[in-house]
Amino acid sequence: MPRPIIITASLLRHAATCDRRVWLDTFVEPDAVTLTPVALLRGIEHEAAVQAATSRVIDEIEVYSWDEGVSATQELMRDGATAISGAYLEQLLELENGTSVTLRGRVDRLVYDARTGCYQPIEIKQYAELNEADRLQLDFYIYLLQQMQGARVEGTFWLGKDADNQPRYVLTHVYNSGRLQGAMRKALTTLQRASAPAVRLEPHCRECPWHDACVEFSRATLDLGLLPRLSRQARSGLERHGITSLNQLASLSVEELQRIKGIKATAVTHRASAIAYVENRPVWVKPLPDVLHGGGWMFDLETAALPGGDGMPWSLGWCDEAGNSQIAVVAPEQPRQTFTLPSMGLLTVVADKDEAWEVFYEAMCADDKPIYHWSGFDAGVMKATAPARVKAALLGRMHDLHHTFVNTVRLPLRSYSIKKVAPYFGFNWSGHAEWWAAETDYRRWLATGDTQFIAQACGYQRDDVLALAIIWRWLVENHENGL
Ligand code: SF4
Repeated sequence: MPRPIIITASLLRHAATCDRRVWLDTFVEPDAVTLTPVALLRGIEHEAAVQAATSRVIDEIEVYSWDEGVSATQELMRDGATAISGAYLEQLLELENGTSVTLRGRVDRLVYDARTGCYQPIEIKQYAELNEADRLQLDFYIYLLQQMQGARVEGTFWLGKDADNQPRYVLTHVYNSGRLQGAMRKALTTLQRASAPAVRLEPHCRECPWHDACVEFSRATLDLGLLPRLSRQARSGLERHGITSLNQLASLSVEELQRIKGIKATAVTHRASAIAYVENRPVWVKPLPDVLHGGGWMFDLETAALPGGDGMPWSLGWCDEAGNSQIAVVAPEQPRQTFTLPSMGLLTVVADKDEAWEVFYEAMCADDKPIYHWSGFDAGVMKATAPARVKAALLGRMHDLHHTFVNTVRLPLRSYSIKKVAPYFGFNWSGHAEWWAAETDYRRWLATGDTQFIAQACGYQRDDVLALAIIWRWLVENHENGL
């Protein structure tokens, strides 16, 4: 029996960048969702604020399935509701070859236009710069509404918001039927394939839930896309020279690589990364800086970055070379206290971020060793939020271990996020491994006082610094073998 074909607005959005994603999203059940839903949460929060500010009265209707949503929307349209938020649109399309295709989309807002007697769609975006997928999405809603209402429909974007949560920019959309028909034809062709289209790893793949699966798939073919930060220009240059796999790239000298357009300063690291994949081992490109041999502290922090957060640190974590960890966590409503969390070390509860920085400062006064952190984020937050005396004493000791790592050794990895590098050395987070999940637990602890939540949040913070210790130790113990 042929598979039913459903084209949704998000499917069309993805079709603008990757056919493989369209196919996988439709036919394969993902093992796990590994992406941070923060962009989504912020978008939802933004839309809710704008919807509330632009509606005088809101009646909520609960629906429990897609079909119920479609029926409720149709009923509201028949009743002449002034505006419908999150409207469910659906139309059946009969192709010339007899195939039925269901078209589905949830538009942010439908507004009744008394002048035309029709509902017009509005898409609400947090950002002000539209992309091709946004335009395609609104084309799709316009098409659905034209089919449903038998009349010409006009769409509008509401972009950004002002201090009163009113849309900052209102942009009339120019409907492009040719663009939409082309995208739908392309999506249909993809959905009628018996197997998934080939992997083509691009920078945007980092935002895709299939990223890890596609990377694993590419390892078998040693695809060029496995190289971290390979620019489009460099990839095209390599392909023009007939170099399509890491095997081929690894066999070239640095000088030969530098003759290819788009590859100059990156020749050494690209070649080392290619060898790392081909031989499945770390490849050293530089001696290890001496400073690492003196040991040091491992440091990481968490800031309130979920919607509603103020961007300030809510947790600072650190450990020594042996992994003895300590955490300072901010809880404005609680008395200052220090206690031991089982298997985690000392936890100090403080009133604000300044106090947290002071606790950290006191611990660092034990010696003057380097303070290792991963990427420029932690030092940047220290610079922006720590009291002056803490900055004066500690900023000069901060050492970006990520920077040192990527410039010293290459691994068979596409990403040098700590969540990829530490597992390469056998370290795994004991609980959840996402900052937003830790912040969610922290917020639950503040709201309920349930220590299980703060233990989970601190477990994440503790594992972040233990991961640093594992990486630091590996560098120190292995560098001489590599060069
Ligand atoms: S990871 Fe990249 S190639 Fe794979 S499905 Fe996603 S966008 Fe497509």
